[in-house]
Amino acid sequence: DIVVRVLDVKRYYGSGEAVTKALDGISLDIFRGEYLSIMGPSGSGKSTLFNMIGGIDSPTEGMVFMDEIDLAQLDSYELAWMRCHKIGYIFQSYNILPVLTALENVSLPMIFAGLSADDAREKAAGILHKVGLGERLFHRPYELSGGQQQRVAVARAIANDPVIILADEPTANLDVDTGREMISLLRQLRDKDGVTVIAATHDMKMLDASDRILWIRDGRADRLERREDLDIRI
Ligand code: ADP
Ligand code: ADP
Repeated sequence: DIVVRVLDVKRYYGSGEAVTKALDGISLDIFRGEYLSIMGPSGSGKSTLFNMIGGIDSPTEGMVFMDEIDLAQLDSYELAWMRCHKIGYIFQSYNILPVLTALENVSLPMIFAGLSADDAREKAAGILHKVGLGERLFHRPYELSGGQQQRVAVARAIANDPVIILADEPTANLDVDTGREMISLLRQLRDKDGVTVIAATHDMKMLDASDRILWIRDGRADRLERREDLDIRI
């Protein structure tokens, strides 16, 4: 069951001599419920690929399908709906709002999706418990550790029960142990809730939870392999 299909996608920035081929012909099928890591050095095109899959930016050439829907066929309203309901985003810099409590940060996407404020708060509290922050509902980001802030970001990402989670270097600002906890939390979402997790990283230590790993370089797919076939010890 394929949830995302990327078909010969190119994304060029600029033109002529100054062109940057951020993606230069990538094709990829992502299976429902898998944990896929996208591995590549800085500048290899990971964020750009995420922006394509997440409907944040569109390809110069090629197509992206989500649940068999061609994203290019959606108008801006439909795209916004899809981003809100089907995709949860986690960024390396957490991107949670500093003036809001954990509970408010997690409630917000549900309110955008049409839930009442009371229902959103109740559901947000449940999700924060689930990610281990039941004792931190009313804390603001500056009162939380980096790992806890990233958990708030995970809680917010799953607020609307997304089909896929796009995690762009979710462990970049965490120490190794906290990073591993983050990865195992993402893995739990895949195992228990059947969420498809797509996580970009440039850190080999973060590959353990993956079902498959796509290696990209210079905007091209280098290699796609299953975790058990990885010939390097982590
Ligand atoms: P990453 O940490 O994933 O390498 P960056 O921090 O380099 O990403 O970039 C953050 C954002 O800035 C990206 O979403 C990307 O679209 C944008 N960006 C990256 N490089 C450039 C650039 N050369 N010019 C303009 N925007 C860029
Ligand atoms: P990664 O996430 O793997 O670090 P990116 O997708 O951010 O890589 O960037 C891939 C390439 O595209 C880099 O060379 C980057 O500088 C360039 N790039 C990304 N976003 C932009 C942008 N908005 N404008 C110009 N160049 C960009």
